[in-house]
Amino acid sequence: MAEEFVIGGIPVRQGETKRIDLPVVRLYTDTEMAIPVYVQRGKRSGPSLFVCAAIHGDELNGVKVISRLINSRALKSLRGTLIAVPVVNVYGMLHRSRYLPDGRDLNRCFPGTSKGSLASRMAYVFMQEVVAKCQYGIDLHTGALHRSNLPQIRGNLDDPEIRELGRAFGAPVMLHANLRDGSLREAATDLHVKTLLYEAGEALRFDDLCIRSGVRGILNVMRQLKMLPLRRGRKIMRPFISYESSWVRAGGSGIVRFERKLGEWVQKGELLATILDPYGHELDIVSSNDDGIVIGRTNLPLVHEGDAMYHIASFRKPHEVVKRLDELQDTLAGEAFTEKP
Ligand SMILES: [Zn+2]
Repeated sequence: MAEEFVIGGIPVRQGETKRIDLPVVRLYTDTEMAIPVYVQRGKRSGPSLFVCAAIHGDELNGVKVISRLINSRALKSLRGTLIAVPVVNVYGMLHRSRYLPDGRDLNRCFPGTSKGSLASRMAYVFMQEVVAKCQYGIDLHTGALHRSNLPQIRGNLDDPEIRELGRAFGAPVMLHANLRDGSLREAATDLHVKTLLYEAGEALRFDDLCIRSGVRGILNVMRQLKMLPLRRGRKIMRPFISYESSWVRAGGSGIVRFERKLGEWVQKGELLATILDPYGHELDIVSSNDDGIVIGRTNLPLVHEGDAMYHIASFRKPHEVVKRLDELQDTLAGEAFTEKP
């Protein structure tokens, strides 16, 4: 590995930690818009890992995950380089919005170009200055507005290394996800940067369980990459691995009575929710279309016909899943997330 690591034109030497502002564009207020980047290099050589949050500006859990991560005592024995970016979509966070001011979704604009739209330019700077300088990456997300996700890792599980890193992370569920056009993960994969996506919680909310699970997961991945010393005797929860998931949609418009929660095991045909009219009369029932675990759910008790309500991850071997359900319940109760970083 080269002795010098340069980001945004600023060199960071081994053993150094720097906070760097990565300029993107100048605003019409005659002020600079920059992405804040934290770079920590261990005294000893090792891999380079980026961890980023708030590519969708309203997804806050990852911001907290990164602030806890970079203040963690565990990083004192860092090998290699950690690039942590707590807020990628600075515009979105200012407006408490998923999008950029031009209405674009940054995570559909990668790898971007230097002459493209605002989103495309932002993606380009991030790719050149952060992603292209790393071998590994973890992209932190939450569910959309009024939707919660069970802590889960998404990635290309057909890649054995990504599968191993995903397992090491230790989230309750690991979901095989095909690459999406224009996503950071797709652009990173094209550069052979092995990238995991962590989804947990809801937009515009902090969820402590999701945050602790995220910090612990990143530290676990760093141990797996030998960026941090291994801890002996520590049990990492084996995640449920799913290659298929689908959303169950509302069959009618109305007021929702939720019957099942995040992380619950449901069987095909089982009742998930009831849709009522304002007088309390039942209009429709919503039932699961497969055996699986509830990994995402709307929290808003008002639905239009066709709204996505429950995200169910299916499993090829449901019997194995049932056997491990106790383990999952313990985890969700917080028992396995008690590590203080
Ligand atoms: Zn997101």
